[in-house]
Order: sequence, then structure tokens, then C-alpha cells
Amino acid sequence: MNHTKSGDSRHPFPFHAIEGKGTYLIFNFIDISLFKVDPNTYELFSQLIEGRTIEDLLSKNSYDEMQGIFRIINHESSGALKSQFSQECCLALDKLVLNVSNTCNLHCKYCYAAGGTYGEDRAFMDKHTATAAINYFYNIFDKINIIQFFGGEPFLNPKIIEHVCSHALDVAGKVPKFSIVSNGTIISPAIIQILSEYDIRATISIDGPKYINDQLRGKGTSGRIFRNISCLKKNNIDVSVESTFTGYHLNNGIKVSDLMKFFYKKFDIRFAHMPSVAASQEDDLHLDQSDLLNIYSEAMEYSLDSLSSDDYKVDSYTLRLIMALIQKNSIGLYCPAGVTSLSVSTKGDIYPCFMFIGKKEFRLGNVLEEKIDLSQLSYVSNLLKRVNKWTDCECSNCWAISLCFGCLGGDYLTTGSTDGRPNCNFMRQFLENFLLKFAESINDPVVLSRMISICQ
Ligand code: SF4
Ligand code: SF4
Repeated sequence: MNHTKSGDSRHPFPFHAIEGKGTYLIFNFIDISLFKVDPNTYELFSQLIEGRTIEDLLSKNSYDEMQGIFRIINHESSGALKSQFSQECCLALDKLVLNVSNTCNLHCKYCYAAGGTYGEDRAFMDKHTATAAINYFYNIFDKINIIQFFGGEPFLNPKIIEHVCSHALDVAGKVPKFSIVSNGTIISPAIIQILSEYDIRATISIDGPKYINDQLRGKGTSGRIFRNISCLKKNNIDVSVESTFTGYHLNNGIKVSDLMKFFYKKFDIRFAHMPSVAASQEDDLHLDQSDLLNIYSEAMEYSLDSLSSDDYKVDSYTLRLIMALIQKNSIGLYCPAGVTSLSVSTKGDIYPCFMFIGKKEFRLGNVLEEKIDLSQLSYVSNLLKRVNKWTDCECSNCWAISLCFGCLGGDYLTTGSTDGRPNCNFMRQFLENFLLKFAESINDPVVLSRMISICQ
């Protein structure tokens, strides 16, 4: 029999049972609904998940004992806060990343891009290529939500940033949002003027306090970055920070939650993105799966606990999951590469993501050429097939399908393939920890109302 009216043809019984510290949960991974249950209901539900039928259970348990089960499988998702994004009818690209500088003034220890060059020649994107890139993508897409400047260090090429913003505003009927990811060491009055004029959101890379950051990003960088972040904030530029969390942090007793406290205290920044380093096992900076689980679970618990106070801070992974649960929106893609996001190299080569720049097998075409090579397009699509969890055989059988996420570029760098799944076990355990903590946290009305407000 079909156990439930939730689910779809591939997931006729889309439930996962989670138990921890005396809490029993049933998670509907199609509806994104979470139920706290008593131990008896949990036990019976676990048997259903393992394949027993309702009739089986009814033959050994009373109708009253089964009430909790019926409540869950008959639950209708309200979907009240569901995002309206999917109702857009135009062809939109979420993010276009322009690598405007193939060179960098720093030499960070963990740089995956060979000092910003991606293994190519040091170069800046020129005006002709930048214009062609904007025209190329506005010929294909009705709308581009974000145009992001990237490098190397993009502020080494400020004239092209200015040109792209001005040209995109001329070409686009609807104004895109602009953003930039920078190492934060080169800020001048002229750069502040460009950021301000085009309302460019700046994400500054910084790995923590001076004794950590200087080790990873170069001696003397911290002072400059700290001063520049303060200067950007003083000039009302929208600033966020991004840290690469490494084995060096761990060996020096620094947790992700310590970085969150540091950024809040020093720059008044509540939301920070702190992904783990993409480094192979042989690398000193590498973090193994159990480290990752401890580090990010602790940051997640710290984030959810902090929501009960006015000086709350939330890491980006936890924020993403709060949004999925509160808005009842599944995280559809493993990562955006090549589906909702595309990148262009300084030479105009198109890649699914900046992390693949310089890797010829991932090159999709060039903005200076008119035609796309369809056989290459289909070859790259095949390399990226894991991005769409909903058409992937292994993901189809995994309860984490609606909440997990990862970085295909990072997987490629650490395993040499886009087929490996180096983080799936970490992700499933992390999600179980998150759901247990989330179920506890939403009992506090202050926390719940803050969650709703940060999702809006
Ligand atoms: S955890 Fe791994 S197998 Fe499971 S849905 Fe996510 S990517 Fe797929
Ligand atoms: S490969 Fe990594 S950096 Fe690139 S789009 Fe995917 S998640 Fe983002």
C-alpha cells in the first residue's frame, strides 16, 4: 500500500527518523516538515520507514497507539511562506561571475587558483571582452540577478569594474545587483566611489584574528584588511566577510564560533560565510570528516542559541537551513555551478564556476565566439550531472536530498573527480544535528520570531 499522501512517485514514503538526547523526530523530506514525537510513535514510525505496512502495525497495536502516525502522514503542508521565486516566467541567470583579474597581490597558503592565475597567464579582463560578456549573457537571459566581480584580486582592475556596471545598466532593462569578492587589501577613494555609485556589495576575505590571518594570507595583511573593512563601513558600503576555515585554525584552538564572535565584535557583522578549506588529505590545512562535523555542528548550535539574544550571529550554513525549514523550500541543487551560476575568465572563456577556470574539459565556450559547441556543452553537462540532486540515482535514495548542499568545485579539487561524494556522510550527520537543535530552538518564541524575521 501507499503509506501516505505526502511524497511523489520516487519517494512514496518520504520520512526520516532522528533520535538524540531524548528527542525523537520524524522529518518529511518532501514537505520539509518536522515533527516531534513520543518514543512509541518514533519506534512505530521507524518500522514503517524500514518497510513494514500500516496493516502490519495495526495488527499488533491499537488505533490509539497509532494516532501519532496518522497525524504525521495526514499532515498537509501549509507552505504559507513558500518562496514565489519559482513562479518567475522569464529566463533568469542567478549569478554571473566575471573574473576581471587573473592576478593577485597576495599568496594565501590554501589558494586553489595558483595565486589567482588558475594556471593561466597573469592578465586583466579588457574592455572589449567585458562588453562582449555582458552582451552575450543579456542575449541569452532576460534577467541576471547578480553580477559578481572576482579574481585573483578584482580591485587590481577597477576600470573594468566601473565599465561593466555602467554597460550592464545600459543594456539591462532591469538593474542587476553587483557584488565583489576581494582580499580587502586594496581600497582607495576611487574604489569607494565606484562601490558607492553602483551600490556594489563587498565580500572581504579574512581568516580571523591577526595571528591566524597573517599566517594564512601573508604577514602584515591583517592591519590593512581591518582598516579597509572599517573604512568601507564608514562609507556605508554593504560589507560582509568570508573566511576559509582550515586545519591551522583547528590546531590553534580557533572554532568557527570564535570567528563569528570576532567578526561581530570587531566589525559588527552578524552573518559570515566560513566554508572549510578545499585541501587534499596530504595537505597540513586539511580537515577530516569528524573535524568538520564537530566544527560546523558547534557553530550551528552556537548560532541557534544566540538567536535568543539581541547580539545574535548566524553562520551561513545554519542560515541556509533555517530558511529552508521556515520557508518550506527545499535546497534543489547540490551547488549552483553551471545551472544558476556561470563564470567568465579574463580571456572570455565560459565555465560553470570560477573554481573550474583553466580546466579545459570544463570550458563551455567563449563570449567572443558566436556559436556554442553543443558536443562540449553536453560533455560538461555530464561532468556536472551531480549538481541536480533530483535526477541523481544515489541522491534519489537519500533522505537528505531536500536539505543537503556542497561545492562541486571543492569536491573536484580534493578528489580529482566530480563524481566523488566526499562530504555526504558529514552532511547527513550535520543535518540530523541541525534538525534536533532546530526542533528544540523553535520552542522559544523569541528565537522563532527572529528566525522568521531573518528569512524575510
Ligand atoms: S547527502 Fe549526498 S547522496 Fe544524499 S542527497 Fe546529498 S549529495 Fe545526494
Ligand atoms: S563549485 Fe563551489 S564555488 Fe562553484 S558554484 Fe558550486 S558551490 Fe559555488
